[in-house]
Amino acid sequence: MTGSRSRDSEQVTQKPNSDSDPASKKARGLTIEGYPVEGLSIGGHETCIIFPTLNLSFDIGRCPQRAISQDFLFISHAHMDHIGGLPMYVATRGLYSMKPPTIIVPTCIKEDVEQLFEVHRKMDQSELNHNLVGLDVGEEFYLRKDLKVKAFKTYHVIPSQGYVVYSIKQKLKQEYIGLSGNKLKT
Ligand SMILES: [Zn+2]
Repeated sequence: MTGSRSRDSEQVTQKPNSDSDPASKKARGLTIEGYPVEGLSIGGHETCIIFPTLNLSFDIGRCPQRAISQDFLFISHAHMDHIGGLPMYVATRGLYSMKPPTIIVPTCIKEDVEQLFEVHRKMDQSELNHNLVGLDVGEEFYLRKDLKVKAFKTYHVIPSQGYVVYSIKQKLKQEYIGLSGNKLKT
């Protein structure tokens, strides 16, 4: 299990490779549980936290360049500084003929996000291809068979949620795969 979380971290300013901190001079960048993390969080302006080796971003901010190459995007809540770059993220991936991204949002805003894309399609006649998934607190989403994300409740002035990333280690021997728990006990 990894403890990677995207909370609503609006008071945190993360600047990997910052020169202002002498202690970080030798650092090659920020990592969490061994996973490199990039991005920025400037309260009220822009929050986008990227885990390049997991191929995902938490929130999109104003859609920084580095976020575009991530195939999965998890949105914590609908404040503009967290979600404002969403149409640009999808449009830019389309421009580069990248595969449609998968966007996970709190279920309560899914319909509004659908309408947002409909309005943009209507205005510019683009496809804006993407997969939109609504996820509720406690629900899980599998990015891969060995990587899943679970939504947890966060507290904010509007509905919001964070996400925990779990890496799933396959410990069973090949011959046991597919058997039920009861059969494994015997
Ligand atoms: Zn907010």
